[in-house]
Amino acid sequence: MNKLKLWDYHIHTKLCNHARGNVEDYVKQAIKINLGEIGISDHFPMNLLPEESHDFAMKKNEFPEYLVECKRAKNRYKNEITVKIASEVDYTPSSFQGYKKIVSPYLETMDLDYIIGSIHVIKIPETKTFAIDGPIANEKFKLFGEDRIFIAYYNTLIQMVKDGSDFYNIVGHMDLPKKYGHFLGKSEKIWEKIEILLDLIEEKEMVVEINHSGYYRPVGIQYPDDKIIRELVKREIPIVLGSDSHYIKYLAYNFDKTLAKLKRMQFEEKIPVNLCKFSKREKTLIKLDSVI
Ligand SMILES: [Zn+2]
Ligand SMILES: [Zn+2]
Repeated sequence: MNKLKLWDYHIHTKLCNHARGNVEDYVKQAIKINLGEIGISDHFPMNLLPEESHDFAMKKNEFPEYLVECKRAKNRYKNEITVKIASEVDYTPSSFQGYKKIVSPYLETMDLDYIIGSIHVIKIPETKTFAIDGPIANEKFKLFGEDRIFIAYYNTLIQMVKDGSDFYNIVGHMDLPKKYGHFLGKSEKIWEKIEILLDLIEEKEMVVEINHSGYYRPVGIQYPDDKIIRELVKREIPIVLGSDSHYIKYLAYNFDKTLAKLKRMQFEEKIPVNLCKFSKREKTLIKLDSVI
């Protein structure tokens, strides 16, 4: 049986101000390492988030240019690789309707193959919003403790799925607050939230990303944790692999480890694992066994 080549669905370019390489650099590298498909998913402009986030994404007027750059690479390399065009769009309860309005025209014209829904900014009730993946996170963990931060994060994620299941296709890095080494504890309270979230994801037929950027962050492991991944397998929630590369060297980084992990879980749980691809926001399920 011919095995399918791998695909990486989470890529950032220098347009977001905190990555290196343009779209073409990534596409060329993807061809070099023999990927079958690459999804470019740069941060959507963060102009509707708190001001301190604004510089971590392209400006509002750069988004059309980004699409042009993606389309150019898609055409230029179409005989060597499939290029998908996407965006990672932040969710906060107060920005969601605004983002939906700005992004919708691009969905109507079928310019985007999928949207990754991610939470980088949270709010603990009665306090100011802050970025859970920024350097300030450590200070906030000292102040609020793991339980309060993870619970605020999961409450927001639950809200994202409730509000946005027809807008977001993929739930991105779904335990990001552990980035600086704050492991997801064994707290029952946190697990209750995760279970509510997984029930909703399952009900809304969304897809979850296994994000590999944690491997080169202090936490040293993928997002989400193995325990959550096993739940995805048991619930037959489709999975997509993303490197969250901000440098071309991280393209498909440690995907082999995740595939081995998924194969082991598939065997132990006796449930076939489905990976997934998107084209113009339609998902196609792909059996883990049919991939390299
Ligand atoms: Zn992200
Ligand atoms: Zn990202």
